[in-house]
Amino acid sequence: MSSELLAELAEWIAIPSVSADQARTADVERAGDWLVDKIRAAGGEAERIDWQGQPLVVGEIAASGGREAPTVLCYGHFDVQAVDPLELWESEPFTLVEHDGWLYGRGTADDKGQLLMLLEAARSLSRENALPVNVRFVCDGEEEVGGASIAEFLAADERGADACLIFDMSMIERDVPAFTIATRGLAYFHLELVSGERDLHSGVYGGAALNALHALSETLAAVLPAAGRLPEQLLAGVVPPSAEEQAAVTALPSGERVLAEQGARPADASAAAEFYLRTCAQPALDVNGIEGGSPHLQKTVLPVRATANLSIRLAPGQDAVVIGAALEQLLHEALPAGAELSVQLLSASAPGLVDQSAPAIELALAAFEQSFGRRPLLIRSGGTMPIMPALQAKGIPAIVTGFDLPEGNIHSPNERLWAGYLEPGIATAKAILSALGKL
Ligand SMILES: [Zn+2]
Repeated sequence: MSSELLAELAEWIAIPSVSADQARTADVERAGDWLVDKIRAAGGEAERIDWQGQPLVVGEIAASGGREAPTVLCYGHFDVQAVDPLELWESEPFTLVEHDGWLYGRGTADDKGQLLMLLEAARSLSRENALPVNVRFVCDGEEEVGGASIAEFLAADERGADACLIFDMSMIERDVPAFTIATRGLAYFHLELVSGERDLHSGVYGGAALNALHALSETLAAVLPAAGRLPEQLLAGVVPPSAEEQAAVTALPSGERVLAEQGARPADASAAAEFYLRTCAQPALDVNGIEGGSPHLQKTVLPVRATANLSIRLAPGQDAVVIGAALEQLLHEALPAGAELSVQLLSASAPGLVDQSAPAIELALAAFEQSFGRRPLLIRSGGTMPIMPALQAKGIPAIVTGFDLPEGNIHSPNERLWAGYLEPGIATAKAILSALGKL
């Protein structure tokens, strides 16, 4: 492994670019400037821009054969997670340390170390006069605290790209790489139910007056899953997993094991067996909180106000507006006579789905397999990633992969990157960029 590259990584890791910490704002900007300097030193153009108060690095290393070549957007983030609890770190979080084959330090795996692989791939191909695509870097410094600015930037960006390459993911396990081809969206609601003018004495009115908590329970029951299945109206638009995705699930740890490791109990008899279908390819509704009445003091009250927070993880293919309207209708249909319900949409973000048959994805899969020796599994993520729908809306196929490992401790003390993946990661990124030249 090149000691120059390690020295570079050490330098970048040493900048404590914790985006969640207001006191580190200048460090986040400094970590961005570091990237700007590297892109410029490679013969490219780059600058750090202020995007509605957030730092973005926008840069480009031009194709060796001229600008008419295809353009590949490389995304990564130069901010990192906070490091506390500090006492659980076995070495200084902002000092790169190599130990037992691992590179330790905050940001080694998430995401500086992985972004450096993309940078090194682009600049070394450029140096060899063999870069067949324009590599456009668009990187943010707020991924760990939301990541909305990159999605807004892409929506407003007129330049576009022929593909996007992202190294910010983990393998399934050692030497089992994956492409994340879908993410779920999220629609978050606040509910307020009123069943009368004032709270009442349950001895005088109980049994005759409408109780808000009863009415809320009855209303919510209409949208909860029955035997693991949500009402048909909430399943509208779901794109089922492809045969290759279904095959990939067999390589993942069993749902039973995943749930047990978290001390979780299956929601119903089929939940463990259908774990990946339920968490990645289906919408999921969760009541996040309920408030009302007197759950602590022993009061003989008949409450007339109840509130709840409720959210739906939207499956790939679904639309937040359509599902939100369906939810509201189901709730109102189930609402007992006399009760009033208001449903407020607090936030929404779209799911993302990559077109697996896009030539860019096929080229990248083949290049990855040829370089690394394993074809990446096509998997869906149950979480929400704003950049995925933003790319989808622009028709840019997203190659979302990476060389982190489940034991890489991202977001935890002792974050680490398997040092043995630095060279193969760069080689694979070079192979993908080279292959995308055929677009
Ligand atoms: Zn990350």
